[in-house]
Amino acid sequence: MDIELGSIIAYRQWVLGKKNNLPVLLPTIMSSTPWPYGTVEAMCHIVRSHHAPVRGCTCGIYAMKTPPWENLRIPRELPVGTFINGTVELFGKVIIHEYGYRAQYGRVTSLSDIVDCSMCRQPFAIGSNKLTYLTIIVPHQVRPIKQTKRIIYAFCDECRNKAYEKAKDKRAHGISNVEILATAAGVIMEHSIYLELTSDSEVREMYEGIRKLYLSD
Ligand SMILES: [Zn+2]
Ligand SMILES: [Zn+2]
Repeated sequence: MDIELGSIIAYRQWVLGKKNNLPVLLPTIMSSTPWPYGTVEAMCHIVRSHHAPVRGCTCGIYAMKTPPWENLRIPRELPVGTFINGTVELFGKVIIHEYGYRAQYGRVTSLSDIVDCSMCRQPFAIGSNKLTYLTIIVPHQVRPIKQTKRIIYAFCDECRNKAYEKAKDKRAHGISNVEILATAAGVIMEHSIYLELTSDSEVREMYEGIRKLYLSD
């Protein structure tokens, strides 16, 4: 069933990023193009003549019927990246799928400041000084454009200290904190990888910027 009138509030997650020194939300960890500020209109990158979304195609603005992060809170074997959770208002033409929607228009309506520790999945407020972030930037080629993939892992104090404790012998051989956390997160080191530690206050600042830029009307 497609809805032509009214609007729907749906859930989605973004990756926190930066573009031209401004904080942005990236639609996925593979994206280098930020989610635009204000209302977004879907465009089809497969069939130019499409008025997105089109049934049978993949175009449209994606969002979920239920919060995807609730499923992610289940402890997993492998740590997952950190996402900013929020809601979007979808309107225009909306195609309804089993778990979510593809819409013609979308607008960010709320953003949560709660993120989960990538290791133990416990939720913490950004800026509560209980998280350390490991940012991983990997250049990769998605033809025809060169993109960078950015993943942020969050470590609560307990998980971070556990990782440091476990690696204390390696530290004597010069392994750095950033490398210790990358190992704990299961990151496979490549020489093209760029790693940095980002403090909670820095992430808080980015998050405040995001709220101003995406939620102002
Ligand atoms: Zn399409
Ligand atoms: Zn933890």
